[in-house]
Amino acid sequence: MSRLAIYPGSFDPPTVGHMDIIDRAARMFDRLIVAVGTNSAKDPFIDHVERVAALRECVHGIPNVQVETFSGLLVEFARAHDCTVLVRGMRAISDFDYEFRVASANRRLAPEIETVFLMARDEYSFLASSVVREIAALGGDYSPFVPAPVAERIRSRSESRPQRPARA
Ligand code: ADP
Repeated sequence: MSRLAIYPGSFDPPTVGHMDIIDRAARMFDRLIVAVGTNSAKDPFIDHVERVAALRECVHGIPNVQVETFSGLLVEFARAHDCTVLVRGMRAISDFDYEFRVASANRRLAPEIETVFLMARDEYSFLASSVVREIAALGGDYSPFVPAPVAERIRSRSESRPQRPARA
């Protein structure tokens, strides 16, 4: 029996912390689907089509990982793929409350689906997509925190958007 897991998220943008979870989950399961949610922010930092394209480049060398988009209920996406395992990352106690609520709600909706948590590596435990967005908005160097295909997209995004006026 082949073990399939889904790693869902908004990945806006994907970070090296996300990539670490992908690498580790890919070693634990026969197949991993990275599921990029499209129902969150109305004004995403990186458009979901570009997020998926960047993630596909990032996982190119990991043959048992595929990247898909989903909208609507995650448990319905999982059921449609006959998948009974969801993978989430847990950074700090601050993640626990939200993750616990989402996992509990998903269990009510789909008792056959289990959520498993991988603890963030120490060196990535501070890292969140929001940190990258903030650094980029303030003109800092975000490149250590994101894989190269993501850095390229952030760069072209900044070039195509008008810069904020500099403060006097
Ligand atoms: P959300 O799905 O809540 O929008 P994200 O897309 O940012 O969250 O992240 C998807 C999952 O990856 C979440 O479970 C989140 O806790 C986890 N994650 C995010 N950043 C890291 C990191 N640096 N290390 C480990 N896990 C992480």
